[in-house]
Amino acid sequence: MKAVARLMKMTEVVKIDILNPDMGEISRAAKLIRAGEVIAFPTETVYGLGADAFNAAAVDKIFLAKGRPAHDPLIVHIASVDQLASVTVKIPDFVQRLGNHFWPGPLTLVVQRNPALPGNVTAELDTVAVRVPQHAVALALIKASQTAIAAPSANLFSGVSPTSAEHVFQDLNGRIPLILDGGSTTIGVESTVLDCTIWPPKVLRPGGISVEALRTFLGDVDVFQKNKDVVTFVKSPGMLDKHYSPSAHLYFCLSTLPEHYQPYFEQLIENKLRAGKKVGAIIVNEDEAWFASHFSSIEIISLGSILHLEQVASHLYAALREMDARGVDYILAHDFGGEGVGLAIRDRLMRAAFEVGCCEGG
Ligand code: AMP
Ligand code: MG
Repeated sequence: MKAVARLMKMTEVVKIDILNPDMGEISRAAKLIRAGEVIAFPTETVYGLGADAFNAAAVDKIFLAKGRPAHDPLIVHIASVDQLASVTVKIPDFVQRLGNHFWPGPLTLVVQRNPALPGNVTAELDTVAVRVPQHAVALALIKASQTAIAAPSANLFSGVSPTSAEHVFQDLNGRIPLILDGGSTTIGVESTVLDCTIWPPKVLRPGGISVEALRTFLGDVDVFQKNKDVVTFVKSPGMLDKHYSPSAHLYFCLSTLPEHYQPYFEQLIENKLRAGKKVGAIIVNEDEAWFASHFSSIEIISLGSILHLEQVASHLYAALREMDARGVDYILAHDFGGEGVGLAIRDRLMRAAFEVGCCEGG
């Protein structure tokens, strides 16, 4: 009966001024966290779905609200480097230095788990992923809650992560009591996850802090590659982990070069339109003229300039959701290179993709 009642009630959305957060609203939200509830809040990467990391029953509610499988561990959010000691047992010197340098910010560090944390937070692993978000609302909420907050992205499992309170509401209305609305997130892709239980540390998921920045700081950093040979990987789209996916089928051209992706798109668009399907293309400003002169009946969303990958990243998830809202059957997108945040964009598009093409491209 209780679960049904939770689903019936509409989720409250409270606007918060991120420059000057209303501490009354923050403290009301913190009381919900302390009472074992799950609420959504903005971070600089994507919106998080948070619960008291030290309350196993509250953490269970995150998995329930998202439909997330229990084997997928959560990131624990803390308010400062000093709070690291509450979630881990051992803080290597380089972890302390990484925290001092990159926090608050979109870098998640995997460290030894403090056994005081309930096992469901980390999917029973003896390690825990932890970060300090760079967002006034997130930080104020964690401090006011006087605990650490376990939080995955505030979307339904395997879907596109939310970069606005509206996105969270679309996915989770009726499943959680409250969304703190801090407007659109700035970075727009998730944090970089760095395994610090080994040396050299290894990037498990590219994200808001670039591999280059980590290498400059640490000297030696590995990057996890599911398959070292990217061509074989691309030729076997079935091996891709399905994640971050819109409802429409995404065709991802793994090339940054217009001379590769334009003919690939052209052929696809002609085929799909001939079959009576609706097509959308996620492009950059520099390609607007080419698309406008070649196609009149497809949906186009420009993510910004190819010269500003931060802009592209911050608009990516909203564009994928908008294509679904426009009812397209197919979405086309291309690669933005493997440097800086381009690597995170590529990772997300690879996982979102129904098919990856142009493997001979650059
Ligand atoms: P999400 O919260 O959905 O944005 O994703 C959290 C990411 O952190 C996933 O890629 C997890 O696999 C990763 N993660 C969380 N905890 C751990 C851990 N203890 N060890 C390795 N990866 C982790
Ligand atoms: Mg997620």
